[in-house]
Amino acid sequence: MKASPTSSLLRQLPSVDKLLQEGAAEEIARKTSHERVRDWLRSIVDEIREEILRHAVWESEAELRSEILGRLAGRYEQSVRPRLRRVINATGVIVHTNLGRAPLSEAAIEAVGRTARYYTNLEYDLAAGVRGKRDRLIENLITGMTGAERAIVVNNNAAAVLLALNTLAFGYEVIVSRGELVEIGGGFRVPEVMQKSGAILREVGTTNKTRAADYRNALSAETRAVLRVHPSNFRIEGFTERPSLEALAEVAQSAGIPLYEDLGSGCLIPLGAYGLTGESPARDSLLAGADVISFSGDKLLGGPQCGVLAGKQQYIDAMRSNPLMRALRADKMTYAALEATLRSYADGRAAADVPVVRMLAASKDEIRRRAEAFAPCLIEQCESKISAQLLDGESVAGGGAAPGQTLPTTLIAITHRDVSAGELLTRLRASDPPVIARIEDDRLVLDLRTVDPSDEQALIDTFFKAS
Ligand SMILES: *Cc1c(COP(=O)(O)O)cnc(C)c1O
Repeated sequence: MKASPTSSLLRQLPSVDKLLQEGAAEEIARKTSHERVRDWLRSIVDEIREEILRHAVWESEAELRSEILGRLAGRYEQSVRPRLRRVINATGVIVHTNLGRAPLSEAAIEAVGRTARYYTNLEYDLAAGVRGKRDRLIENLITGMTGAERAIVVNNNAAAVLLALNTLAFGYEVIVSRGELVEIGGGFRVPEVMQKSGAILREVGTTNKTRAADYRNALSAETRAVLRVHPSNFRIEGFTERPSLEALAEVAQSAGIPLYEDLGSGCLIPLGAYGLTGESPARDSLLAGADVISFSGDKLLGGPQCGVLAGKQQYIDAMRSNPLMRALRADKMTYAALEATLRSYADGRAAADVPVVRMLAASKDEIRRRAEAFAPCLIEQCESKISAQLLDGESVAGGGAAPGQTLPTTLIAITHRDVSAGELLTRLRASDPPVIARIEDDRLVLDLRTVDPSDEQALIDTFFKAS
């Protein structure tokens, strides 16, 4: 009786012990550990046994062995590849929350490296030789840029909202417009964080219209703050109204309570010159009468993930001494990166040094010139399997900043001779480094605004591998 291919293949399956003696397996074991390779081989052999039982066929024992060793190499490669990887952002969304928001400036990167490598004076007063305070380290850089009396840094702006409301209004009311109770993305809802702070939300007005009188009428003995929230990633158009910050400051002042503005993204310099209106510098909010402001470090500011709280001394100092501060404080590398980023601003070098500001500042013509030089190189490298066309398009700031506004850009629209735009997109994502792009009208489009010029060659190489 002739043995079935299944049973003969099963008999040919090499033992794990024998596989461990193969040169390729030994080499991987030297790079990691013998135990790990044995575990991988066990699971691969089990996997293949299952496949044989489901009638997979290999022509010979040698083929079977090389299949197993190939899978082993794959497991090893996967195990050494970082889970958190660099990617190339060709989407034109500058502050892309899914892609880690702001790439840091060279100065900030250097500061992070130095701080990671060495001991630091994080909480040590070098002059006095006694314990110091981390929250005083860069306070005057922030107050200098914003005009605030005091400032502190926490883990992100959500933490800033939590700390501010917990400090100002735990168990009491905060007046906020219904038009500002927004969900920011990733399920972060302002009202839910407010609730966790222990503050009681007193909603006023309607989604599209809120007047100063609505706030005034809601004042009571229970009110501890007036809150203004940046509408972040949405915009109500048409029949809308909301009071000026000055008018809100008047309401708050008349009641002897603080006005707190959550600026969301926030920025330190006017961005109108780059075509973004409606994002005014943090300083303007304090000048207009806000007593406390908060904003993110890694949105338009272009620094590390953190939240900055700035404003009147009595309120910021109360937040500083809130026990929650210990849970929400920023770490030393964040301080290092934020300090370097703020110095670029203080020295007037933000548009040159801070990548987010540089990308905002890039003009459509500048991007077109880059695209005109880039496209022919790309086509040549891909041996004309692709064609490219330059198009007028739009980039966005992202990060919930300047909702509804776009920056004119030049897009490179790509068609592949053999594969669809969707398939090309998938291959680019699977490449190393992965490239994230978008599809418009069945074509893959690249926006060089968010691609650093020094990454253009890597982008071309990835395309070559993917095409
Ligand atoms: C983004 C944003 C936040 C949260 O800031 P993170 O730094 O992401 O924690 C809070 N409020 C507004 C209005 C925002 O846009």
